[in-house]
Order: sequence, then C-alpha cells, then structure tokens
Amino acid sequence: MQSLTLADYEAVMTPNYGVPARIIREGQGVQVTDVDGNAYLDLAGGIAVSAMGHCHPALVDALVTQAHRVWHLSNTLANEPAIALAKALTDATFADRVFFANSGAEANEAAIKLARRAAFNESGPDKHEIICFENAFHGRTLLTVSAGGQPKYREGFGPLPGGFIHVPFNECAPFEQAISEKTCAVMVEIVQGEGGVRPICPTLLEKIRTACDRVGARLIIDEVQTGMGRTGQLFAYQHHNITPDILTSAKSLGCGFPIAAMLTNEATAQHLVLGSHGSTYGGNPMGCAVALKALELINTSEMRTHVQEVGAYLQKGLETLNDTYGLFERIRGRGLLLGCVLKPAFHGRAGELVKAALDTQMLCLVAGPNVLRLAPPLILSIADVDNALARFDKVFASFQTDPN
Ligand SMILES: *Cc1c(COP(=O)(O)O)cnc(C)c1O
Repeated sequence: MQSLTLADYEAVMTPNYGVPARIIREGQGVQVTDVDGNAYLDLAGGIAVSAMGHCHPALVDALVTQAHRVWHLSNTLANEPAIALAKALTDATFADRVFFANSGAEANEAAIKLARRAAFNESGPDKHEIICFENAFHGRTLLTVSAGGQPKYREGFGPLPGGFIHVPFNECAPFEQAISEKTCAVMVEIVQGEGGVRPICPTLLEKIRTACDRVGARLIIDEVQTGMGRTGQLFAYQHHNITPDILTSAKSLGCGFPIAAMLTNEATAQHLVLGSHGSTYGGNPMGCAVALKALELINTSEMRTHVQEVGAYLQKGLETLNDTYGLFERIRGRGLLLGCVLKPAFHGRAGELVKAALDTQMLCLVAGPNVLRLAPPLILSIADVDNALARFDKVFASFQTDPN
C-alpha cells in the first residue's frame, strides 16, 4: 500500500470528484493522518458523518463484536441489531416505524415513493406533486436530483422523473401559491446543508405543516445532514414546534459505517405494503449494530448541551476573527453545522479558504462557491476550537482581499 499515490488515483478513478488533496491513512478522534505522516484537525467530519470522531472505541467494539457474529442476512430474515435500532429510533422521535437503507439518497427515494404511494391509495394518481425548494440537496440518484433544487446536478441526465415543483427557500408566498390538492408531499431540510448552510425560517416551516394538513400532503423532512445531534438536538425538527410525517437520516447515523433510515408514523407506514419496496443491504446487522451504539452515545442531554455550547463558541470565535478580517457577511447555521458566508466581493472563493486551511493542517468544506462549511465531529472540545481558531486566524490573514 505504501507506494500508492494520487497519480494512481487519477489513473483509475472516474473523474467526478477531481483529484483529492491528500491520501489519508488513519483517523483517531478529531484528527486524521495522511500517508506521509502529517496530522490534520478534522472540521469536515467526512462531510457531516463522523459525529463521534474517528475510530471511537465503543463504535469499533460494536462493529467488531457484530463482525464476529453475523454480517449479512437480507430482509428474508430478521436480526436483533435492526430491531433494537428501530425501537431506539422510534422511542427517540415522532416515528412509529422505520425502513432501513444504505445512503441518504436511498432513504429519500424510500420517502418519496412512500409519499406517492400513500397519496395514490388515498386520493388516486392525480395527487402526485411534490413541492421542493431551490438549492435543496437530497442526493444524486435520478429521483433525488429531480427533488433537489440545484439544476446543475440534473443537467444531461434526462429524461428525469417528473412531478417536482421547486419554490424559493425561505419565502412563504411562492410556497403558499404552489401547494394544492394535487400536492402529495412537501420535502425540506431544516438547515439546507449543501445549499449553503441556510437554516429554515421557522414561519415557513410552520406554514408548510399547516398547509400539508390542509391539503392532505405528507411533510418529508430530510435530516440526512442535520440529524444525529449535529444541530444540538437529536434531529433538527426537534428545535421547532412541528412534527414531520416522514424523516430521513443517514450521514452521522452510522458515524462512518454506511446506513440510512426512513422514519414515519403509523398511518403513513401502512401504505408501504408487502412487496412495495426493499433493499438487499438495508437493515444489515453490521450497520445497525454501529448505529445503535452511536445513537446511545449521541442521544444524551450532555451531548445536546455540549454541541450547543461548542457550536456557539466556535461561531462566536469565527465572528470575532471576522471583525478583524471582514471576509464574511455572516456566520450562520446551528450547533456544529456552520457556514461562513463570503461577502459579495469574495464570491466564488470559498475553495481557496479550504485550501489555505489544509496548509495549516485543518480539514474544512465548502457549501457552494461562497460558503466555507464546518461540520466537525460532535466530540470537538473547547480546546480543539481554540486550536482551530488559531489556524483560522492564519487562514483568514493569508486570504488576498485586494483586487489585483
Ligand atoms: C448528503 C445528503 C444527502 C445524500 O446522502 P448520500 O448518502 O450521499 O446519498 C441527502 N440529503 C441531504 C440533506 C444531504 O446532506
């Protein structure tokens, strides 16, 4: 393995990701180490995945213990970790029932299919429209790029599944005009993650719930990025006084082991009748064993408080640095999902900040060309934040603000 290089990567991988900056060999806690032995502070968390950091001992133990028991059975048989995880997820949320999948996009596929089928059964085929939001991100399958609100992810992949209506995010009037008796579901993120770390306006969220109830549409909340403690509640909808009909989770659900879930209430679940949907790997014992332990570690009042405190401290620290450097319009987000929004003069340059951060041995993300995104492990400490802020001081100082 020693001799593998990024040139090898470039030669054999499809070009869709570009060539990554480093080859990482190991991770431990909030740090990862590359093949040359350089260590990096991880504020990217594998794109909002590694909630408990890297190789958390309790998660390694859950995985290894299960690896010695049984790896895979398929859904023709039941397994204990899947039943236990479904019980734990329903206990912790509004939901009564759970469908397991392997990725966020797949959980969203299940959610959309369920909403369509439920409306079909109750009202016939005309009630099939799904209202989604501009800049939303719901995954990369054909159905989920159709639901997503970023046209560049759909370009050249047609013909696409139809029936999706996109309205501007955080504006109430266009939404109110779009919803009708033909609406079978409204699909929304509580904080648009890929779309720029944009929290939803609470008034819009309440209007969506009310309008869904009025026209008999399901509210699907995509918590693939915001879920599992990231915003300071187990799921971000729990900050608000509303209940979804369907919720999707992935990313941090398995803390780095692939697993996803679609949660729903009893009345909706009944429409996913025998044979109507499925997944070979969905609910496999390995993923469920890890996610069960992850949920146990994350779903505590101590963790909620920790994420709120450390997130607020990081946000405040970034704001203080920004008072000096003046790069950002604002720092937004919730808990440990933060976006530093570049001022218009610096639009298109968020990638430069990620590169500069890498030079200070720190991993960050973008959320579009104008937003520096941070989604670190939830176990990040105050001392880690101080460490990160010292590096951001250098990163922001090195950012060329003079037009040349
Ligand atoms: C990442 C993401 C997805 C897609 O998840 P995959 O596991 O990559 O399929 C869907 N919705 C949201 C909000 C996401 O952030």
